[in-house]
Amino acid sequence: MNLRDHIRDVPNFPKEGIVYFDITPLLADPSAFQYTIDMMAERFSDYKADKIAAAEARGFIFGAPLAYKLGIGFVPIRKPGKLPYKTVSVDYDLEYGTDSLSMHIDAVDKGEDILLIDDVLATGGTAEGMVKLVEKAGGNVSGIGFLVELGFLKGREKLAGVSTQNLLQL
Ligand code: IMP
Repeated sequence: MNLRDHIRDVPNFPKEGIVYFDITPLLADPSAFQYTIDMMAERFSDYKADKIAAAEARGFIFGAPLAYKLGIGFVPIRKPGKLPYKTVSVDYDLEYGTDSLSMHIDAVDKGEDILLIDDVLATGGTAEGMVKLVEKAGGNVSGIGFLVELGFLKGREKLAGVSTQNLLQL
């Protein structure tokens, strides 16, 4: 299966001059979605993981079924103000400005191995924020798995020292 055939290019979204890679056709196709989760399980299980952590919203779409398939727990990483219990938070850099990510303070145990999952690696700011958050909570990021890596944005350079893999490089 060629996953590229299930990703739609949307020019000028969210801004003029940007091509947005839309993964919703892949989600809507049951065999492409199943194949994606199966491939993630095969490829990303090289990473030792006690739990998967992923950020809202699209990280949840892939992280949760992968955790189910691998038989490990799932930790939601959210925008501030969404989680009900005590949280740990970090600020991270966006292309323009900064944003924050939060996680429950007891979501990750000290020394636990965490596999991070997201749909797209673009500039790398979000993934860098997730790494900082897990490390701040005392966890160890064993690797990051992406559906798509936009290589031309060089997001990997922000993730020096962390192993990453993707199913599709654009
Ligand atoms: P970053 O630039 O790597 O921090 O990407 C920011 C967030 O936006 C990530 O969680 C990506 O999943 C998402 N993102 C950025 N560009 C695209 C795209 O072209 N398609 C889908 N998601 C994207």
